Amino acid sequence: MPVLFVGHGSPMNAIEDNQFSRQWKEMGKTLPNPKAILCISAHWETRGTFVTAMEKPKTIHDFGGFPQELFNVQYPAPGSPRLAKETKDTVRSIDVGLDQQWGLDHGAWSVIRPMFPNADIPVVQMSLDYMKGPQYHYELARQLHDLRNKGILILASGNMVHNLSMVAWDKIKDPEYGFEWALEANEKMKKFIETGDHKSLINYTSQGKAFNLAIPSPDHYLPLLYALALKGEKDPVTFWNDKAVMGSLTMTSLTIG
Ligand code: ZN
Repeated sequence: MPVLFVGHGSPMNAIEDNQFSRQWKEMGKTLPNPKAILCISAHWETRGTFVTAMEKPKTIHDFGGFPQELFNVQYPAPGSPRLAKETKDTVRSIDVGLDQQWGLDHGAWSVIRPMFPNADIPVVQMSLDYMKGPQYHYELARQLHDLRNKGILILASGNMVHNLSMVAWDKIKDPEYGFEWALEANEKMKKFIETGDHKSLINYTSQGKAFNLAIPSPDHYLPLLYALALKGEKDPVTFWNDKAVMGSLTMTSLTIG
């Protein structure tokens, strides 16, 4: 099964028909049908690592100041206590907790719903341990590799370049606008991905000013490392939705395998 890193951007992409959401729909049609989805979302940070283990995860509207239409969205995909347990057993280095409280946050449902609109594929979310550094996350993710062979789609959802404090509000309606540093960081990240230089991506804090601006906090960047850690030697990498928006975000996504 391929692995995805998906740039999710604004929650509005979940209900808008735009170039990004259309590509999400297309992805759902071209991917082999997964048995279940394991989603690592930028929007679930915990102390320790957890997986959702309930039968019926609720749709979480973890944002404010958006139209009612967005709050009305429900994505009633089933959970999978079985995949949660399997994930826990697959990760040997730490004790992954089984969670009964979370559900599906917008990092997960905003992109999975357009891909699989029938909501008939079970979804489990995995949290990001905010106490840990990039190397730790990369090594943890590597252990999930076996799940790929079992027909599980591992989908990491974040944004490679994501700086909300620097959003260009005057360019908000422009469908494609990126500050120079955002484009520079995006291109450098793609170069590192293309050449398989994961070490430089793990050491993102040492890559200079453009990276520092692109990654002011690790939450939206770390899911990228989860996807890259799962790349097999012969897996091709394809970029899509490779665009900057709102000045300080990029929607750049990749398919591995
Ligand atoms: Zn987000």
